[in-house]
Amino acid sequence: MIIQLKEGITQQELAALIILVKQSGYTAQAVSTARGSYLVCLGSLEFDIRKIGGQAGVKDVHRVSDSYKLVSRKWKQETTKIKAGHTIIGGQKPVIIAGPCAIESEMQITAIVTHLADMGIKMMRGGVFKPRSSPYAFQGLGVEGLKLFYKICRQQGISIISEVMDIGQIEQMYDYVDLFQVGARNTQNFNLLRALGEAQKPVLLKRGISGTIDELLQSAEYIFSSGNEDIILCERGIRSFEHAYRNTFDINAIPVLKQKSHLPVLADPSHGIGIREHVTAVALASIVAGADGVIYEVHPQPELARSDGQQTLNFEESAQLNQKLQALQQFIQAFN
Ligand code: PEP
Ligand code: MN
Repeated sequence: MIIQLKEGITQQELAALIILVKQSGYTAQAVSTARGSYLVCLGSLEFDIRKIGGQAGVKDVHRVSDSYKLVSRKWKQETTKIKAGHTIIGGQKPVIIAGPCAIESEMQITAIVTHLADMGIKMMRGGVFKPRSSPYAFQGLGVEGLKLFYKICRQQGISIISEVMDIGQIEQMYDYVDLFQVGARNTQNFNLLRALGEAQKPVLLKRGISGTIDELLQSAEYIFSSGNEDIILCERGIRSFEHAYRNTFDINAIPVLKQKSHLPVLADPSHGIGIREHVTAVALASIVAGADGVIYEVHPQPELARSDGQQTLNFEESAQLNQKLQALQQFIQAFN
């Protein structure tokens, strides 16, 4: 059960409400975010929730039977719109985010920023802390790379998403990113999720490499219940028995996540399939499936990229992908 609290609820009203909830056989955990205050109540006894609805300080009360509560669509029917930099994610229009797997140099950033600006793309991705399978592989340029990334993007009015790998990096990155990315390897790093819950910046949460839908939503619940509602879910493929491609992009996850949660859902076709030639097909399919946008990898010379070159588009391919996405969007609008 979720109890939405009125803005001006007094300490006495809150205390009385918690006593009532506990007397009804439920636990109560208070959650406060920039958007609202809630009591998340767990229990299994049947009781008339109108009893709660009539209490002083209560705005609304909802039964939510899912294992996750605050991220469930059961209490909030409209999709949450999230503002990250200059971009709104979860609105009518699908968003496009693009950039290299890793930030590599001033020349690389400048070339990509120019390409994105030409296409009207308002947010650039790029890792400076890279979670690599091998400790000998390129690990990213770190905070200095992020500052360079920030400086060039700000000049062009482009917002930034970059991956945070541990709690200590949140503060280091805070002033230079508009959206924190939690990568697939950290989806269940609960300490990191809690810390991001306390940071007042939106978070893009990727699905774990072998993570279920329920686990992804529970991870999102960690962030929300720690104080941050601005969460975007991201399907990026899961590990399966199939080895013909890097990951199995789970198209099913998109409509299912959209149904189960009010949070916006982005698709990452680059990691989802891991093969450059097929990134466009998966991107288009994900929009048809209902994704709120795509995030893909682009590089001036993918064959020279220091990570994930095999799944990274060059500028021509990226421009084609954008044209196709625009055409698809017009078709979808006419169709609806
Ligand atoms: C990335 O976005 O470059 C990345 C490492 O993604 P994932 O966490 O999905 O593997
Ligand atoms: Mn990558």
